[in-house]
Amino acid sequence: MRLIYFLSSRIIHFYQLRNKITYKRTLKAILALTIIFIFLLSGNNRLLAQNIIEGDDGDIKYINLSVITQFPESIEFNFSSEKPLPYEVLTLKYKILGTKATQVESLLINQYESLNETIKIKTNNSESYIPPGAEIEYWYEISTMRKNIFSSLKKSLILTDQRYDWKVIKNQNDYIYYHDYDDKSAELILEKAKNTYTDMSELFAMKSDNSIRITLYNSWQELKTILPPRSEVQENSLITEGMSFGDTGVIILLGNKDNILGVTMHETVHFAFRNAMGSVSWPIPAWLNEGLAEYANTQSNGNYATILAQAIKNNSLFPITSLTTFPGKPDDVILAYGQSKSIVTFLIKSYGATPFQELVENLHKGNHIDIALKNAYGLNRFEIDNDWRESIGAKKIAPIIKTSSLPTSIPQSIPIPSNPKTFQIPSKNSNSEGSSCTFRSSNSSEIGLTGGLLFLLFFHNVKAKQRTTKTNKVNRKKL
Ligand SMILES: [Zn+2]
Repeated sequence: MRLIYFLSSRIIHFYQLRNKITYKRTLKAILALTIIFIFLLSGNNRLLAQNIIEGDDGDIKYINLSVITQFPESIEFNFSSEKPLPYEVLTLKYKILGTKATQVESLLINQYESLNETIKIKTNNSESYIPPGAEIEYWYEISTMRKNIFSSLKKSLILTDQRYDWKVIKNQNDYIYYHDYDDKSAELILEKAKNTYTDMSELFAMKSDNSIRITLYNSWQELKTILPPRSEVQENSLITEGMSFGDTGVIILLGNKDNILGVTMHETVHFAFRNAMGSVSWPIPAWLNEGLAEYANTQSNGNYATILAQAIKNNSLFPITSLTTFPGKPDDVILAYGQSKSIVTFLIKSYGATPFQELVENLHKGNHIDIALKNAYGLNRFEIDNDWRESIGAKKIAPIIKTSSLPTSIPQSIPIPSNPKTFQIPSKNSNSEGSSCTFRSSNSSEIGLTGGLLFLLFFHNVKAKQRTTKTNKVNRKKL
């Protein structure tokens, strides 16, 4: 996540680095780009999709399914039929593409009356969130209590913010939604994200072509209303320049900033790193996650060099062990970013790509950072720290003896919505990939918010508010 201050006079200056993406590749990407301009829905039209799905059952003439968004609050799936259906349970199944788990909402239907039922999915309450730009695959089943099941075809839709008339540029499975914005600039942002993802995939030796799903907002006023419903996020004291939503591939960007391409690269790295990590059992250390994002941000305009030089002179660098999460004071945060970038750059440039790939692989397996570093580099964090300090002419540090250095798992996820008005039943139809009837109990069913922890720490210190221990608890209502 990239943040800037709204009211503070402090401005983060980033220094320019050489863009390593070659013009050849850029040209190739441009040529390969398939551009589609679509004026989507008018401001008042909230229909996301309408399907008439014919059944293969002689008694089912058709079910009309309308999907309507009340963005950002909810999505409604309205099912209707001309005549009664000989079934008793209607089950909506859906999956946010990129995530693994299938969500299920069921309700009883009256087999003696025509069907007219709505299943409402909350998308922006305090315990759930689906970002604009997310692609949702959905289908439904109707069944009898004896488990006779009719299953519909799968459809998909892209959740969009209905307040604006969006254009979209697609490049294979990647896309960018934007409005009232220069077409070429939007195209460049998508291209930059794709190239960054490719660069990261090469660095990680990772074969992946997960979709990048960008939505570009033009001002903080537009953007702040659609952010995750933590009250802190919507305060005016901070501006979110970009946000990456874990496995969904959704990246939200603020397009009116000079460093938009830098932020694009930064957030794309978070997405690529998330893909490479898989479902690790604890958060990736901030120094590695943010350091890598800034290492790959070839258009960073920060003045890390000056801040680092000052910290070396004052002997005020952070021990790497203290950068599992970032500090809260603004000056400290800037130093933490700069130091993390320097450490990651040192790891990659001094030791080469191979041990870095081994580091990623070890983390992917769930190894603790110390074990992963030891396996990859033969060094622990403390030794890495001092090697790095030596390389930049900083004073080395003495080891800090701790009884345990294992970080506590800290929730960074936003659960997928729950609909208390429907009930959830085990389905016998278990052939859907990743389909689960243990609703929302799996971490994989949640949307991780990259940088969320940093953001909270950052905010809490700035605003001097009580640190919340609010977690990703989901209130499950069993009916
Ligand atoms: Zn970040």
